[in-house]
Amino acid sequence: MTIAAVSAHVAIVGAGQAGVALAARLRSKGHAGAITLIGAEDAPPYQRPPLSKAYLMGTMPEDRLHLRNAHFYAEAQIDLVLGHPVTRIDTVARTLTFRAASMPYDVLALTTGSVARRLPASAGGDLGGVYAVRSLADVDAMRAEFAPGRRVVIVGGGYIGLEAAAVAAKLGLAVTVVEMAPRILSRVASAETAAHVRALHQSHGVTLIEGTGLAHLEGAGRVRAAHLADGRVIACDFVIAGVGIAPDTGLAEDAGLTLANGIATDCFGRTSDPHVWAAGDCASFPWQGGSGQGGAEPGGAEPGGRLRLESVQNAIDMAECVADNILGAGRSYAPVPWFWSDQFDLKLQIAGLNTGHDRVVARGDTSVWYYAGDRLLAVDALNDPRAFMVAKRLLEAGRSADPSLVADPAVDIRALLG
Ligand SMILES: Cc1cc2nc3c(=O)[nH]c(=O)nc-3n(C[C@H](O)[C@H](O)[C@H](O)COP(=O)(O)OP(=O)(O)OC[C@H]3O[C@@H](n4cnc5c(N)ncnc54)[C@H](O)[C@@H]3O)c2cc1C
Repeated sequence: MTIAAVSAHVAIVGAGQAGVALAARLRSKGHAGAITLIGAEDAPPYQRPPLSKAYLMGTMPEDRLHLRNAHFYAEAQIDLVLGHPVTRIDTVARTLTFRAASMPYDVLALTTGSVARRLPASAGGDLGGVYAVRSLADVDAMRAEFAPGRRVVIVGGGYIGLEAAAVAAKLGLAVTVVEMAPRILSRVASAETAAHVRALHQSHGVTLIEGTGLAHLEGAGRVRAAHLADGRVIACDFVIAGVGIAPDTGLAEDAGLTLANGIATDCFGRTSDPHVWAAGDCASFPWQGGSGQGGAEPGGAEPGGRLRLESVQNAIDMAECVADNILGAGRSYAPVPWFWSDQFDLKLQIAGLNTGHDRVVARGDTSVWYYAGDRLLAVDALNDPRAFMVAKRLLEAGRSADPSLVADPAVDIRALLG
């Protein structure tokens, strides 16, 4: 660790999953300089996964969303500034602008996350009763809509749309999911996994419409129907848009940092400016494991092997790697990604990235294994935590598993670890 790094003022923009992990790691690894963590939202830093699961369902109170309590920030001497978006970075003077004032930094980390894509106003996306699921404020705004008997149309059959659909169905709403791709989960999971999830939703009365997009929403001030591309009209009381997210790169772009499907970093998490680092949903990093789409909620990869991930695991692991590297560790970020989704009584756990797979091997109906040739790339485990753990350990060790053994449910799964 260098003397400069020990006493430097580290400013972190974005007080979410990655920002908090980065600040905590800097302190726990002995950083003695000031740490300022700046967030645009008013709420204390919180975890997002329950927003489309237990919090939306009403079974998790808000304080359980908080990543750390107030005592932690005071004890760790992390100066937490909430409700103040940073509006400008001057990388030459090394200052940030927020609260209409400027603050100098020695080292800057950008952990600005993502923004939800909205339905365009031209398609009725600005009507009342149309919601996104990204922030606590988004979910608080829609919760009163979740009353039994009401009708919701969910646009987008990815993880977030399907999780919201499951909550709505459990609460007694009439739920229709509209997915423009030929099938749900097409960006992230195999047809086998999607078939399981489809059957689960249908068994709970959810109507899934695949292969047809939304044409526009109808309403006078407030939405009352969804018109689909095939001419169908679905009457509804409200709409949830689960149509993906985009990395929040506005500040970085204005500051002249290099972008490549997010804020481009090197393998250490450093951006094109040597004093600026990035981590989490907003950052893309070099990736040897393949290129293209697929896997555990990837934000996508650029040709030439860059990857951006949208997951809690990536936010924490990349942030901790960046903190170590700010302190001089020189550690490459090479994750084995993992992800999960909860829908009804299904816990879907995903290890690895299925990008580039040419074969899928089903193990009974509880796990799906993705291969490129003989190389194991990823596994979807459906209420099968043992398959997930075995797959994760194999992938972390850079090992594969014989597909013929995988396919035979009579073979004890732990035997795959050899
Ligand atoms: C509904 C939902 C369900 C999810 N479920 C799962 C799941 O089951 N499993 C999983 O692994 N992942 C899940 N995710 C994804 C996971 O939550 C994200 O990948 C993770 O939060 C990314 O962390 P981050 O720190 O990069 O971004 P965030 O946690 O989004 O934090 C970024 C913060 O930066 C702030 N910010 C942005 N710009 C500025 C600025 N200019 N100034 C100050 N602050 C700024 C934002 O307001 C935000 O608070 C889910 C996400 C959502 C929305």
